[in-house]
Amino acid sequence: MPDRESQIEHRKSRVVIAGAGPAGSSLAIRLAKAGFEVVLIEREKFPRHKLCGEFVSPECIRHFNDLGVGGQMLDAAGDRIVATNFYSQSGRSVSVPSEWLGGDSALGISRDVMDATLIEEARRAGAEVFEETSLVEVERDGDRVGQLSVRTADGSRRTIGGDLFVDATGRSCVLANLVRRKISGRSGTVHPERRYIGFKAHLENVDLEPGVCEIYLFDGGYGGLNFVGNGVANHCFLVTSETFKAAGSVSCLLDEVVYRNPRARKAMENSRPLFDWLAVSVGRFGRKELTPTANLFTVGDSAAFIDPFTGSGMLLALESAELLADAIVGGHDIGAVYTRTYEARFAGRLRVSGLLRGAASWPRAASGLIASLSASRSILRRIARATRGERRRTSRTT
Ligand SMILES: Cc1cc2nc3c(=O)[nH]c(=O)nc-3n(C[C@H](O)[C@H](O)[C@H](O)COP(=O)(O)OP(=O)(O)OC[C@H]3O[C@@H](n4cnc5c(N)ncnc54)[C@H](O)[C@@H]3O)c2cc1C
Repeated sequence: MPDRESQIEHRKSRVVIAGAGPAGSSLAIRLAKAGFEVVLIEREKFPRHKLCGEFVSPECIRHFNDLGVGGQMLDAAGDRIVATNFYSQSGRSVSVPSEWLGGDSALGISRDVMDATLIEEARRAGAEVFEETSLVEVERDGDRVGQLSVRTADGSRRTIGGDLFVDATGRSCVLANLVRRKISGRSGTVHPERRYIGFKAHLENVDLEPGVCEIYLFDGGYGGLNFVGNGVANHCFLVTSETFKAAGSVSCLLDEVVYRNPRARKAMENSRPLFDWLAVSVGRFGRKELTPTANLFTVGDSAAFIDPFTGSGMLLALESAELLADAIVGGHDIGAVYTRTYEARFAGRLRVSGLLRGAASWPRAASGLIASLSASRSILRRIARATRGERRRTSRTT
C-alpha cells in the first residue's frame, strides 16, 4: 500500500537539504532544475579542503554532464587516471584499469574545487543556498519533521520549514540522528566495533607516474596517492585508532606505519605537505536508515558509507541523489520507491566492498589476495566490477 505520508504535490513542494557535499548539492541541482523549491544548508564556507582520496570514479563524469558541470570538472581535473595500482606491504602489486570501472579514465580533482563547483551550480539552478549555516535542532510535527533550526555565521538562530527533508550531512548523519532522538526517542549514537582515523594532505615532490592512482596496504590501514593538479598529489590514508595511538603523531605514523610499505616510502619520502594534515574519525561502514521518517530521506554517506579503497563514495553520493531525485519527481510513495531502487542498485556492491575490507585488514590475507588476483585478470576484473553498479550511459532527471 502506498505510503500516503511520503507523497507530495509535484513541483509545489519545498525540499530542505542539509549538507552540500556531492550528494546534497547534486540533489539540489536536479530538484531545482525540475522545478522544486529547494533550500540547501551547509555548515562550511566553500571552497574548503575536505578529507578524501580525491579519486573521482569514471562513472561520475556522466553525472557531472547531467548536472551541467561536466566541462568545468574536466577542466578542474589535475589528472586523468587510467589505472589504480595496489601495493601490498610485501611488495606485491596488482593493477586495475579505470576502463573496468565504467569509463576511460577516473579524475583526480581536489574537493575544494569540486564541491565549490557543485554548490555554485545549485545556486545557479535556483536553489536557495546558505553557507556557514549549521543544522542544530529539529522541530517535530507529529511523527514527521516540521522544521529545522539552524545557526548562521553571525551566531543567530533561525528556523527553516519544508515539506520534505534530506540528510546529506555525510557520515555524521546529523539530521537523521537529531530526528531519531527527538521523534522516535532512540539514541542517534552508534558505537562501532572499530574506529579508524583518516588523514589527508596535498603533497609536492612525490615520485608518482601521472595517470596512475596508487593504493598502499600496510599493517593497521591503507592509503592512496594521486595527482590533483599542478604537480601536486593528494595523499589520504586510514589507520585504526590503536595504530594512531601507538604512533602518537602523523610524522611517526608515516615513518613507522605507512612507509613500511616500500612503494609508499619510495613515492613520498622526499615529499612536503602544502597544508597541515587534516584528520577525521571514521566510524561505521555500510548501511544506515534510508527513510528515518515519512518526510525525511538520507543520501550519500548518510545513507551508506562504502569502503574508501573502492574509490566510489562520491559515485554513491551522486547516484543515490539521482535515485532520490527521480523518486521525488515521481511524487508517489517516495520512501518505498527510493528504498526499492536503492536496494537494487547498491546492496550487492556494499556487500562485496565489506568483504574486501575484511580481507584487506589482515596484511597476510591482503598480500595473498593481491598475489592471486595478479595471476587472474578475469577474476580481478569481476571483483572490480562488483564494487560498481550496472553500466549506464544515459538517463536524465532534469
Ligand atoms: C579516508 C577517506 C578517503 C576517501 N577517498 C575517496 C575517494 O578517493 N573517492 C571517492 O569517491 N570517495 C572517497 N571517500 C568517500 C567520500 O569522501 C564520501 O563518500 C563523499 O564525500 C560523500 O559525499 P556526501 O555528500 O554524502 O557527504 P560529504 O562529502 O561528507 O558532505 C557532507 C556535507 O555536510 C556538511 N555538514 C555536516 N554537518 C552539517 C550540519 N550540522 N549542518 C550543515 N551542514 C553540515 C559538511 O560540511 C559537508 O560539506 C573517502 C572517504 C574517506 C573517509
